[in-house]
Amino acid sequence: RQLNHELEAQKNAALFAASEIERYAEQVEQGSKYKSQFLTNMSHELRTPLNSMMILSQILSENKNGNLSEEEQNYASVIHKSGTELLNLINDILDLSKVEAGKLQIEMDMVNVTELPEMVVNQFGKQAEEKNLQLSVHIEPDVPDAFCSDGLRLHQILRNLLSNAIKFTESGGVALSIAMLEETAAEGSMPQGRMIAFKVTDTGIGIAEENLAPVFEAFRQGDESTARKYGGTGLGLTISLQLARMLGGHLEAQSKVGEGSTFTLLLPARPPALLDQQMFSQPE
Ligand code: ADP
Repeated sequence: RQLNHELEAQKNAALFAASEIERYAEQVEQGSKYKSQFLTNMSHELRTPLNSMMILSQILSENKNGNLSEEEQNYASVIHKSGTELLNLINDILDLSKVEAGKLQIEMDMVNVTELPEMVVNQFGKQAEEKNLQLSVHIEPDVPDAFCSDGLRLHQILRNLLSNAIKFTESGGVALSIAMLEETAAEGSMPQGRMIAFKVTDTGIGIAEENLAPVFEAFRQGDESTARKYGGTGLGLTISLQLARMLGGHLEAQSKVGEGSTFTLLLPARPPALLDQQMFSQPE
């Protein structure tokens, strides 16, 4: 009887612990819902006033009436530039909170690979020229002209990688090369069949071995002195890695301090015909 009593007591204790864990899990889930709702609302509330600031400072910086002195015109440009940085930060935080909450939608589309060189030159040509850097894009002949993926998200990842490459390079150049990879699996994922490799290579400051994995973590930057010198938020690579995974691929880096870095984005080379059959969204 004593034994039965003890068993009963232990069973009750276990049941109590299980219900406590369940209650705690519910609270955590609720908390995370509030957090993502809060971030979404906050981002919206911040974006609206910021948009008017940006439009008006843009108008001022153009000085169409000729009423402003050169100094005042420069102030307006600085306001506009700072506003753009703030907007990028807000968009990054919003993206990350969506990824964390499982709410980011991937929209599969036909991505035209042949348009990428123009996109790169249009968006980064001026920046590269200002720093006297060579900017090149090379597409191997066996890469299909189009494949099935989320074009906007692919552009977002490439923009992150290219802007980092230019930011952290003082001389030499930045190159995007696109090639087929015959390997069957991206590291850490299921076999995917043929993959397309988008490699962004620079001749910049490089990343020390011990910092290579941490730079993919949220808010983590290389070392403190570079963080202070170059600014930034440490969110770009975290978001890019998450997006790459959601697209069925992977993002990895190789680097040598003082020589440069290569970031490789691997994406499945899904034929465009798959487009009608599948819509992808983040698993719950
Ligand atoms: P941010 O650039 O806003 O700091 P990222 O997540 O894009 O955030 O990058 C994190 C860190 O990784 C950077 O602060 C930098 O230290 C390092 N990093 C990223 N790309 C490069 C690169 N091409 N060359 C050298 N360091 C890089």
